[in-house]
Amino acid sequence: MQRRELFSFLSSSVKNSLADKETKVTLIRPPYFDDIAAFDIECQNCEGLCATSCQEQIIIIQEDKTPILDFSKSGCTYCDDCAVACTPNVLNIENKKLIDATISINQSSCMSWEGVMCFSCKDPCLEDAIDFKAMFMPTINQDKCTSCGFCISRCPTYAIGVSE
Ligand code: SF4
Ligand code: SF4
Ligand code: SF4
Repeated sequence: MQRRELFSFLSSSVKNSLADKETKVTLIRPPYFDDIAAFDIECQNCEGLCATSCQEQIIIIQEDKTPILDFSKSGCTYCDDCAVACTPNVLNIENKKLIDATISINQSSCMSWEGVMCFSCKDPCLEDAIDFKAMFMPTINQDKCTSCGFCISRCPTYAIGVSE
């Protein structure tokens, strides 16, 4: 790919990806709940203890006072801190499980799918869950991916998405 084509590709894919993200709010809860309805009840009287305890600062308390995960700057280490902090027990270590979300690569926004060498997403993935074919065309191996979200903020063209 020529430099001018690459610049044009980067510019349009970043714009498209950002526009997509602005129109979508993905409700991903912290990974320690059993009863999803408990968020709407118990969180109403809580000061957002889970968000304060998260060292990665990925828990956002929404206007309805319930927590969601935001992978735009970091990911989840499954450290248990949010579950320990949740005294109303909406989150509990006994209910530890993988984050209920699917992480995927949008091929039309990914530089590597356009023939540009890029391993920005591979490096932070401790599970080695991103497979490359001869150093290009990355895909996420859903059997290995823990939905931790660490790869998302590392993609320069915002090509990695998360869905419920
Ligand atoms: S600490 Fe528990 S009760 Fe408080 S906002 Fe977080 S999930 Fe809700
Ligand atoms: S497990 Fe740790 S990193 Fe993950 S959301 Fe809870 S406090 Fe944050
Ligand atoms: S979300 Fe999946 S692919 Fe991305 S860094 Fe975490 S385990 Fe790897």
